[in-house]
Order: sequence, then structure tokens, then C-alpha cells
Amino acid sequence: MKDLFARLGLKDVNPGAWIGTQPLPTLGAPIADSENPSTGQPLASIALGSAEQLDQVISASQAAFEAWRLVPAPKRGEVVRQMGQVLREHKDDLGRLVTLEVGKVLSEGLGEVQESIDMADLAVGMSRQLFGLTMHSERHSHRMYEQWHPLGPVGVITAFNFPNAVWAWNAMVALVAGNSVLWKPSHKAPLNAIATHRLLAKVAQDAGFPGLLTLIVGANRSVGDKMINDHRLPLISATGSVPMGRHVGQAVAKRLGRSLLELGGNNAIIVTPDADLDLALRGVAFGAVGTAGQRCTSTRRIFVHEDIAQEFLRRLVAVYEQLPIGDPLDASTLVGPLIDARAVKDYQMALETAVAQGGEILTGGQVLDRPGNFVRPTIVRARADMPICAEETFAPILYAISYTDLDQAIAWQNDVPQGLSSAIFTDSFRESERFLAAHGSDCGIANVNIGTSGAEIGGAFGGEKETGGGREAGSDAWKAYMRRQTCTLNFGSDLPLAQGVTFDI
Ligand code: NAD
Repeated sequence: MKDLFARLGLKDVNPGAWIGTQPLPTLGAPIADSENPSTGQPLASIALGSAEQLDQVISASQAAFEAWRLVPAPKRGEVVRQMGQVLREHKDDLGRLVTLEVGKVLSEGLGEVQESIDMADLAVGMSRQLFGLTMHSERHSHRMYEQWHPLGPVGVITAFNFPNAVWAWNAMVALVAGNSVLWKPSHKAPLNAIATHRLLAKVAQDAGFPGLLTLIVGANRSVGDKMINDHRLPLISATGSVPMGRHVGQAVAKRLGRSLLELGGNNAIIVTPDADLDLALRGVAFGAVGTAGQRCTSTRRIFVHEDIAQEFLRRLVAVYEQLPIGDPLDASTLVGPLIDARAVKDYQMALETAVAQGGEILTGGQVLDRPGNFVRPTIVRARADMPICAEETFAPILYAISYTDLDQAIAWQNDVPQGLSSAIFTDSFRESERFLAAHGSDCGIANVNIGTSGAEIGGAFGGEKETGGGREAGSDAWKAYMRRQTCTLNFGSDLPLAQGVTFDI
């Protein structure tokens, strides 16, 4: 670990506020630890950034924006290409750091950094395609078109569970769009942020833009609240829980800023009698257990047709009982720890509530008696009307519900406050089309014969209802990071007014 930290420039105590590669003074700052969730031991400490430092950081970000927005977009893309290259060179180290600090199994830690590299590649392509439309003017000798301009410094608030990729989804696109980026990471994963920031800020600095990337690790009450209320940040992109999103969304709306919210999910898979059960089994297991149930897209509910429910659950329980749980750096491990002791408490409380509401634990339900935050992935036989099934518990708990009628299963799936990801396993064309129809899944993501998690970056990612409505990554998600300008040009010698209005002077 010592070597890894040295290669990534991490120290025993790390500064929490950065303007590019330059840390701000740490004297007298409160110190917070980052813990390894597999051992409960501290990995390193952070000297937290202050509200005053946030002010400095935003000013630097604004100054960088003034210059960066004048750089042609494809040239901005070239700087982002170099950032992708640096991520490639450090993929192994950064992937291991994800595993150490948030407990993802190593292949997922590496996969997360790969996703950031992919985002850089995607954004490089986008940098030549930030195009608007042209329209026909109703007026003689007039031309209309729209163009897209950068917004300003973009504030990016990230959740702990994707400590590298969530930032990259935002930052890579925001940068090619011509914005500077201020990152406020989760206090549960600050080392990932500091290491990634330092590497990529160096690329920006070498390109002549030292303040293009800024970072602040600080308390939510002082630094976080000040950040979301600061009018110099025209866009706040926030990823995290629904309560956090509600708070951030309201604060930003109050100053009529823009927010892009990527919040909690409560994702379901429907398994119909026409499903390939081997496929469904793998899709459900990865969705529910992958990342120890700590993905926004984790599968939390399954609706299985009553004709196959008994057989399917028997096989799923057998899979659960063989899952290797343990050190996420060990290549044979499939289930790592939860992020912290609080998450373990939430797991226990959710299961107590589920049982009190009539649920039956089919497998799992225990906290492992070893250091770290390890729990057994759990399946609860449940009813759709149990209130706990409508909540997102960020842990590997799967509520299994049997159904008789597909319309009913789709209605149950939709009958929760969140609307992120959804899936159906079926080989029936009619069933899959029913699921994808306008009266089918109400989620931002709807998959057929694929689980709810593991989205590709080429599509726009995000969800409806309390998930917040934001879209990030591919497709035309870049528009959220730019402002649209409609331009009308008159190349004639008259001044005709639209809608036939006359005003002769
Ligand atoms: P969280 O809500 O506890 O924290 C998320 C971020 O918000 C952190 O950086 C935190 O410091 C910040 N924050 C909290 N209060 C703030 C304030 N007042 N001002 C500014 N920032 C503030 O979430 P978490 O535990 O880190 O992550 C898990 C949650 O994130 C789950 O609900 C999960 O579904 C969601 N998530 C959603 C997506 C998505 O794309 N939809 C992706 C990943 C995670």
C-alpha cells in the first residue's frame, strides 16, 4: 500500500483544497480519516478545505473558465484525450485505490477507471460534434440557427460508490463543452478524488490552464452548502441520495441556477415464464450482489412469475450460498464490504423492518464476525405492498415477489418513488414490447435480457421521478453542460417583423 500511495502522491495527511496541482494551506484545518472498509483501519487523513478556501477555489475556476472557453472545442478535446491517456497509464493504481477505499472487488475497481477512460474517449469525439440545428426563417433574406456555448465553472458533487467514474462522466464532457470543473467528492472516498485530481490537473496545467480543475474536500454544512448556493457556479451536477438531491435541487433552484441530479434507484427485474432462466439467474445475481448492492442501479426487487418462482428462487438461493465474500483485492472474491458501519446498521434495520412487515429471509441476513463491514447478501420473500420494498437500502438485500399477470408486475415495478433502472427477462417478443411501451417501465433505463446494472456510457444515463431526471454520459447529454443560443441573421435591406407585425416609422 505504501508504494501505491507514493506512486499516486498520497501522504499520511493530504490537503483537501486544490487549485490545479497547487494545494491550499492546511495549517489548523480539521482532519478527517479515510477508512478501509475491509479492515476498519484508517488509510490516510485529509486536512479539510474551509469555506474561505472554497471561495478562492471558485475564483480560480472562474478565471480558468474565461480563458478555456475561447479554446476551440476540438483543441479542448485534445487536452481531454491526454487526460484519458494519463488515466490509462495509472489504471492499475487508481483501480486498486478504488478497491482499497470503497471496497469494490478489484475487477470492478479497474472497470471503474476503464469507464473514466472510455468517457474521455467519448468526450474527445463529442468535442467535434457539439452541433446545433439550422431553421428556415419565416422572413425574407433571414437565416436562423442555434449554437451552443459553455456555461461557466461547473460544480460536481460525487457519491462514494463511483469515486472515479461519476466525476469523469461529468468532467470529461463539461471540459470539452468549454467549462472549468470544481469537484466536491464524498468524504467517504476523498483519496480517490485527490489522486485522480492531481494526475489530471497536471495535464491541464501543462496545457496552460492551471485552474481548470479544482477540488475541495470539506464538510457538507459549511463547504457543501456554500458551494451549492454560489451563483458563480451556473450548474451543479450532484450524484447521491434522494434527500441530498432534494436539498441541493432546492438550493440551486432558489437562485435559479441549473442542477443535474443523479439520485437513488429502486430497480427491479421481472422474470417471466418465457425467460431463459440461466441468463436470468446471472443477471439477477450480478445486479443484486455486485458492488455488494451499492450501485444506484443495483437490483433491489424481483418479480418472478408464480409458475417458475419456486424453482427460480431455489436456484438463486443456491448461488447466494456459494458466493465468495471477503478481501476485495483477492481475485476470487465476488462480494466485498459495505462502505461503513452506518451502512451495516442500515442493512440490519431494513431486514428487521422487512421481517416485521411479513417478509421471510430465504438466505443471508447476517453481519460477518470479522473486521470490516461485511454482510451476507440476502434474499427476502416479500409482498409488493410491504412499505420497505419502496425504499432504497444501499446494501445487498433483494426482495423477491411472485406475480401472476405481467401488467400487474409492471405496475408493481413502477409503484415506487424512484425511477432509475429496470429489466425484464423473457424470450417473448410480446412481453418485452409490452415492458418497453409507453405504459410499460417508467424508468430512465429499461433492459431486456440484461440486468439493471452495468450501463454503457454511449447512452444517456439517469432516471425519472425521485431519481432526479438528470442525464449524463453519452447521446446528447452534453447539452446539460452548455447554453443554447438561437441566432437570427438578416442579410437583406428591409427589417420585416415576425408574425406580420408592422411598425413603420
Ligand atoms: P450521499 O447523498 O450521502 O452523498 C452524496 C454526495 O453529496 C457526497 O459528496 C456528499 O458529501 C454530498 N452532500 C451531502 N450533503 C450535501 C450538501 N448539503 N451540500 C453539498 N453536498 C452535499 O450519497 P452516498 O452515500 O455518497 O451515495 C449513495 C447514494 O448515491 C445512493 O442513493 C445511490 O443510489 C446514489 N447514486 C446515484 C447515482 C446515479 O447516477 N443515479 C450514482 C451513484 C450513486
